[in-house]
Amino acid sequence: MILRDVTLLDRGETRTGAIAFDEESGTITAVGDDVVDAGSDEQMISLPGYTVLPGLVDAHVHYSLSGERSVEDVVDMSDAELALVEARNARRTLESGITGVRAMGARDIDPQVRNAIDDGDITGPRTVANCRSITITGGHGHHLGREITGPADARRAVREQVKQGAEFIKFMTTGGVTTPGTDPDQVAMTEAEIDALVDEAHRRGVHAATHVHGADGAKAAIEAGVDTVEHGTFLDDEAVEMFLEHDVTLVPTLSAPYHIVRNIETATEESARKTRHVYERHIESFGKALEAGVRIAGGTDAGTPFNYHGANATEVEFMAKYGMDPAEAVRAMTETAAETVGLDGSGTLEAGTHADLLVADGDVTEDLTLLNNPAAVLKDGEVVSGSIPGQ
Ligand SMILES: [Zn+2]
Repeated sequence: MILRDVTLLDRGETRTGAIAFDEESGTITAVGDDVVDAGSDEQMISLPGYTVLPGLVDAHVHYSLSGERSVEDVVDMSDAELALVEARNARRTLESGITGVRAMGARDIDPQVRNAIDDGDITGPRTVANCRSITITGGHGHHLGREITGPADARRAVREQVKQGAEFIKFMTTGGVTTPGTDPDQVAMTEAEIDALVDEAHRRGVHAATHVHGADGAKAAIEAGVDTVEHGTFLDDEAVEMFLEHDVTLVPTLSAPYHIVRNIETATEESARKTRHVYERHIESFGKALEAGVRIAGGTDAGTPFNYHGANATEVEFMAKYGMDPAEAVRAMTETAAETVGLDGSGTLEAGTHADLLVADGDVTEDLTLLNNPAAVLKDGEVVSGSIPGQ
């Protein structure tokens, strides 16, 4: 199929042109003006005023959580129940226009969800999966995580996960907003534990992501060689400098505190108090990193309190609202996110890559809210929600 006379939004730039893709192979076959002269008998649809862009890639989602006010609401679920919840959330995510995600883990279910998606047994985005977030005993996320004590146990935890098919590991350097009794400002892990986690992940050929709020936590994890820092809520100048020096990507997840602030009346007392402390500083911290030129990948933390699956695209609006050029904000949640999480062949409009596409009715760079409700979402060249006008 060929879509012509559209605005192509790719790698932070727009141009008018055409895109051809093949439903059989599921790949993009050509992009640009010459597509139209291909002379084939393919179906061709002219869509002036529409934008075609790569499907969004969310670098940080929790299939296991569904926006409950407290993570503790999920703790009593059996693995079977949780697997069904994850399958539902994966479908919602894809249908909203997110064609790739990095799933941040819960018990050991995410690699199986990924495999079921890859095999076509359930519907969902391309998924990069891990198992359990690694945390200190009683630390942030311990309800669904793998608790460790000491560097030897840290290595063991990484090995267990890789054995079960994890493509990266995630660990909690600091406390968090949503886990009672943990302090977001404080470095929870010892240096030896952080070093062991990152070193073991790299030995096993997987990348290491870390949850961080306080600046000291960011510095400790970056010093150890971590690949991505999630949230980065209280970054100071020195921490920002270290991101640049060590070529580390920030996944700011601006959506997460926003949704708790908007629902502050119904949030738990502890998460409301911590979020008030976090919210303003988080935006400042994002601005500081952006201005310094830190690589930023879009991720929502979808699943955390009131941060529902399917609303992921609002992260692009937040990044733009707090200083990013709109086309660059889209790029952060397509090309940059795909590269960061290791989804090869996603995030750009290029011949030979996956035909994972959004078709939006209007100019996306003029109105980012169009991303919340695309006319059509395609994965592998097949429409998975909405429809292509005129088809
Ligand atoms: Zn998270």
